[in-house]
Amino acid sequence: MTRRKLIAGNWKMNETKAEGVALASGIAHKYAALNAPSFDVFMAPPFTLLDAVVQATKGSKVWIGGQDCSCFEKGAHTGDVSPVMLKDLGCGGVIVGHSERRADHFETNECVKAKAEAALKVGLGVIICVGETLAQRESGKTLEVVASQIQGSVPTESTAGKVVIAYEPVWAIGTGKIPTTEQVEEVHASIRAELAKLLGKDTADKMQILYGGSVKPSNAAELLSLPDVDGALIGGASLKVDDFWAIAETVM
Ligand code: PEP
Repeated sequence: MTRRKLIAGNWKMNETKAEGVALASGIAHKYAALNAPSFDVFMAPPFTLLDAVVQATKGSKVWIGGQDCSCFEKGAHTGDVSPVMLKDLGCGGVIVGHSERRADHFETNECVKAKAEAALKVGLGVIICVGETLAQRESGKTLEVVASQIQGSVPTESTAGKVVIAYEPVWAIGTGKIPTTEQVEEVHASIRAELAKLLGKDTADKMQILYGGSVKPSNAAELLSLPDVDGALIGGASLKVDDFWAIAETVM
């Protein structure tokens, strides 16, 4: 089964408006110059920059989205941003369940699933993040933890075109440490098996599973050539056009 690759950037809480517009335009310009690219590009700037980035990348076919969304459509939820609002700005997708949201905002699998459902309802694509902590890996619980995150966070109405899974070991995010290729393959294969239980084998075989956690130009080729790795979710290295593009070039 050949699945299209997805190269996704999570800018986290970084960039001013001028910096963000320059970064997004730089990437969109490179992407637009490709003739029929065999991969997709997604960027998730902070909420404050979404409008400017959507405008700056218009016509380029890069996919812009939020780093999170509310599970509610509207109402008394101070500080939150709804999927309807993201859609209204011209976003095509949203990341939900990032480990920093799960840790800093106590987001449970149920909460992540509700956010994913709300996003799907308005037609946004959704990247759902899962991954184990270092303590969970060291106690041999990785596959169990990831399986319960998949079963608890992924809506049953998920389809391959609309939902992407990102496996991001928490201990690899922003640390420069990465799992071995065997560990990545083992977890990705087990995620696909869990998706098959939840959504059926046909959908599971078509769904993209990204790897995230300290992906850099220097390690991207090896990670992205693994059979069950369908792209990358990139934090730090998505903040420089050249680094992000060097990673994208490994799948061209
Ligand atoms: C992330 O936050 O999703 C991430 C993978 O970060 P980094 O690439 O910096 O490890």
